Amino acid sequence: MGMTAVHGVPAAPGVARGSWVHVRRRDLPVGGRVTPGGEEAEAARVRDAANRAADDLMALSERVGAAGHEDEAAIFMAHAAMAWDPTLIDAAVARISGEGEDGVAAIQAAGASVAAMLAALDDPILSARSADVIDVADRIARLLAGLPAEEDLLPAPAVVVADDLSPSLTATLPREHILGIVLEAGSPTAHAAILARAYGIPAVVGAHGVLSLLAERGAGAELALDGATGEVVLAPDAATAADFDARAERVRESRAADASEASLPAVTLDGVEVTLLANIGTPAEAAPARALGARGVGLFRTEFLFLERSTPPTEDEQTAAYHEAVAAFGGDPVTIRLLDIGGDKPIPYLPMPAEDNPFLGVRALRLAHDRPELFVTQLRACYRAAVAGPVKVMAPMVADAGDAALLLELAARARSELADAGVPIGSVDLGVMLEIPSAILAADSWFEEIAFASLGTNDLTQYTLAVDRGNPALERYRDAMHPAVLRLIAMAADSAKRAGISLSVCGEMGGDPAAALALVGLGVTQLSMGAASLPAVRRAIRGASTSALRETALLALHDRSAADARARFAALLPA
Ligand code: PEP
Ligand code: MG
Repeated sequence: MGMTAVHGVPAAPGVARGSWVHVRRRDLPVGGRVTPGGEEAEAARVRDAANRAADDLMALSERVGAAGHEDEAAIFMAHAAMAWDPTLIDAAVARISGEGEDGVAAIQAAGASVAAMLAALDDPILSARSADVIDVADRIARLLAGLPAEEDLLPAPAVVVADDLSPSLTATLPREHILGIVLEAGSPTAHAAILARAYGIPAVVGAHGVLSLLAERGAGAELALDGATGEVVLAPDAATAADFDARAERVRESRAADASEASLPAVTLDGVEVTLLANIGTPAEAAPARALGARGVGLFRTEFLFLERSTPPTEDEQTAAYHEAVAAFGGDPVTIRLLDIGGDKPIPYLPMPAEDNPFLGVRALRLAHDRPELFVTQLRACYRAAVAGPVKVMAPMVADAGDAALLLELAARARSELADAGVPIGSVDLGVMLEIPSAILAADSWFEEIAFASLGTNDLTQYTLAVDRGNPALERYRDAMHPAVLRLIAMAADSAKRAGISLSVCGEMGGDPAAALALVGLGVTQLSMGAASLPAVRRAIRGASTSALRETALLALHDRSAADARARFAALLPA
């Protein structure tokens, strides 16, 4: 049998080659029927097992957290919350009394149906969480059946191949033995993929057919993968093996260069310092972002805390998550963005009427008119987390002075409630996201009331150019370097300067090296981006001079197209 290739979805960059191990969880117990009359006792057993599972998960969270793996600690904490969450357990109890299933069958079926519901949603983040629900349900089922914990499945270094990899299984495997990960199923937003990226483990997901191909070959065969391209090669021939080894060497070299440059300041040739910050979506991403040289968090998207659950996150849960990110940044500021959610995402505890145009609807801060407590609770958590280090809070989708006043009012309420209760708080800078053109066009009338502003160029581009940010058919129209968007950014920079407030960018534009140069040319010297973009943006800035960037920016404002403007700055990138 010769070499065979499978193409999957790139999930974490890096290259690996070596033997492989099919990792699967230990067989689950088979469920049965409940003895008639024993429904109540069986329901109590399920509740008890769920509580024990939650306790075990909290203990696991503390153990891995103490070992320095903050990201995994957060995942296990989220799992403990799922085990406590009544959605899953109530569904299982209903099956015991309704269908006559025993606890094992009921919790597995309930897990599967909650997971199926999540997977059916047209939202990659929510559907990726379905694996977590099954993981938690399986843990409860194992406890009900009296099964011991999972054993060490990876005694020696190998590429891990699996159908899907639950977060707890990913964390149980010894990290130094995982050469790479290949999953038949999974998505790039699944926890296994997030963890792989955070730790630099190459991963390919959605590699359909890989398990049956490996089964045909037997355990002796080698496997090579490239997590940047999604290539998986079974039994590579000598030339292919050499090609993968050469790619692995290039990855090693570029990672070593990135790491050695991480502490270099992002300073232009003419001495202007640009502050590079990271965008994160979970506290787990804070430490790896800092390792790549982020000088703080410019955008902490907090939606992950609010999705995939049946009740809003408590103030304590939120405080813990924000505190973790603040602690990981050890004195550098963390900018927490208040909940940005709207009618396009179904949330069980936030029933919202369907809207024809959810992106133009009751989204983000606009929700605060009906549900102020949601935002006040979040703000209370931010003030409490600020005890651990500098925190900034910004409201998304601020349209005008009225919205800015609303933010200040909600924050004042949070502060006075905490003061009345005697809860210690830290100081928090309050700011706004500029992502609606109207906010920028009239900014000079109200900018002085806030401490800072951050340009959300993803939405700003969508609203300025009337281009739905998620519609692939509009690719040709979508470029934040459109001169109309550049002019708005120039206006925002001008208003911020006059009002004496700081201005940053936290949309994707900041992580695009050519666009980052344009932003510096327009006067923005704080850029926040996905951590993986930090090295390339730092190099671009270190190779440019602000005098040239300013001149180029002035010309770009009058270009005929985004492509023309982009070409000007691309020409200024280092070779
Ligand atoms: C933006 O709109 O540019 C932004 C940073 O926020 P989000 O992508 O979360 O809408
Ligand atoms: Mg936005």
